[in-house]
Amino acid sequence: MPAVSDLTQETFPEIREAVRRLCARFPGAYWRALDRERAYPTEFVQALTEAGFLSVLIPEDYGGSGLGLGAATAVLEEIHRSGCNGGACHAQMYTMGTILRHGSEAQKQAYLPKIASGELRLQAFGVTEPDAGTDTTRISTFARRDGDEFVVSGRKIWISRAEHSDLMVLLCRTAARDASPKPSDGMSVLIVDMRAAVGNGLTIRPVRTMLNHATTELFFEDLRVPAANLVGEEGRGFRYILDGMNAERILIAAECIGDARFFIDRASAYARDREVFGRPIGENQGVQFPIARAYVQMTSAALMVDHAAALFEAGEPCGTEANMAKLVASEASWFAADMCLQTHGGFGFAEEYDIERKFRETRLYQVAPISTNLILSHVATHVLDLPKSF
Ligand SMILES: Cc1cc2nc3c(=O)[nH]c(=O)nc-3n(C[C@H](O)[C@H](O)[C@H](O)COP(=O)(O)OP(=O)(O)OC[C@H]3O[C@@H](n4cnc5c(N)ncnc54)[C@H](O)[C@@H]3O)c2cc1C
Repeated sequence: MPAVSDLTQETFPEIREAVRRLCARFPGAYWRALDRERAYPTEFVQALTEAGFLSVLIPEDYGGSGLGLGAATAVLEEIHRSGCNGGACHAQMYTMGTILRHGSEAQKQAYLPKIASGELRLQAFGVTEPDAGTDTTRISTFARRDGDEFVVSGRKIWISRAEHSDLMVLLCRTAARDASPKPSDGMSVLIVDMRAAVGNGLTIRPVRTMLNHATTELFFEDLRVPAANLVGEEGRGFRYILDGMNAERILIAAECIGDARFFIDRASAYARDREVFGRPIGENQGVQFPIARAYVQMTSAALMVDHAAALFEAGEPCGTEANMAKLVASEASWFAADMCLQTHGGFGFAEEYDIERKFRETRLYQVAPISTNLILSHVATHVLDLPKSF
């Protein structure tokens, strides 16, 4: 039987085929061993970098492939459908967008070609703080100007891949919230060179989680960052990271689609083969309907992801669509995960089947990079004109 057919898979067939071939070199056993140790998939990230898959969004003038977000969604979807995980490296694709869209020409020349070649890893994106939560305007990590440097103090949480990145795009306050005309004013974006920073004002503490995600807590104590590393204008940083967040949500939605396809492929194959009561379990409609429902949900969500990516590529406003794509895709992947575990019965819990690992991995997406409630709140107030609750 073929793997699940679909309405959207025709996009970028050569890229998809090449990603599948690469991922075949990193089978379940590779990921299970890393998962046990919570270790970083260095070889996998290196292979993707060398193949050029992480630089698809960087313009050709700066050494990348100059493709649009649709190509990047194809890469990440295939990684996840193959049973691999793009969480270790997806940020290398889109975090550079803040520099590309808002950095100076000197910054672009200095960083983008090296990010494209893999010489520089820009894998860390520092926004979330323990006391601010989703209310980003409440961040308190502060960058004080001192001559031709900023002096940064504060704390960040859940900053993924910080130990595996040469650079970090950091959002911090450069003016107090109550001293700014709007709460979203007074924040700025700095490019932090992690190699120089660690041990000189920056401390990284890994946070062990239910999935292998290389996430960390960061402590800044008078970290000195050259003023030349300020992206765009001081005080306008929140705007600069917003369009990067739209790209992030669409790309992570594509990972959810890949996960859902992985679970549907696995469940379909198992339901065809596994015989109980003298017949394949998939003959029972109680088993086949949840698989069919997962397929319906995944396909519908995939169309929303494609739509959001097309808007982003066209330079159209896409905040609502990016959020909606992330919501429906994360719910489709979670439904498919639960369905796949149930279809496998007891074997779904065995590590060697990779179902329980992917089940844990795909649960993240209803919380990060933005949680479902906040998306519903956005749709309620921005689209449906319902009263704001905060
Ligand atoms: C593994 C992992 C990796 C991450 N990587 C990064 C990273 O690299 N960089 C980074 O900056 N951040 C990262 N994050 C942070 C992530 O973006 C946040 O965890 C996420 O946005 C949710 O924020 P929070 O955890 O502060 O939840 P909170 O804001 O504290 O919210 C807690 C719960 O309350 C709900 N809630 C809050 N306010 C409301 C409201 N008004 N109405 C209804 N419900 C509400 C939320 O939906 C959520 O369910 C990561 C998180 C994890 C777990």
